[in-house]
Amino acid sequence: MPPETVRILCPNLTCRKVLAVPGTARGKTVRCRACGTSIKVPAGRGHSPGNQAAEKPKDK
Ligand SMILES: [Zn+2]
Repeated sequence: MPPETVRILCPNLTCRKVLAVPGTARGKTVRCRACGTSIKVPAGRGHSPGNQAAEKPKDK
């Protein structure tokens, strides 16, 4: 299985750099190297184990 790369666009309009982060960074926050903006890496396609959708309010 080849290492997956996720490309994300920096939300900073004055930067707009395309960042390539490893697939292991999905769901995490990375920092733009160019401007330092924190960017949330989308969880992406496929199944995501234990995400917010599966979270239920605990009622004992
Ligand atoms: Zn940036």
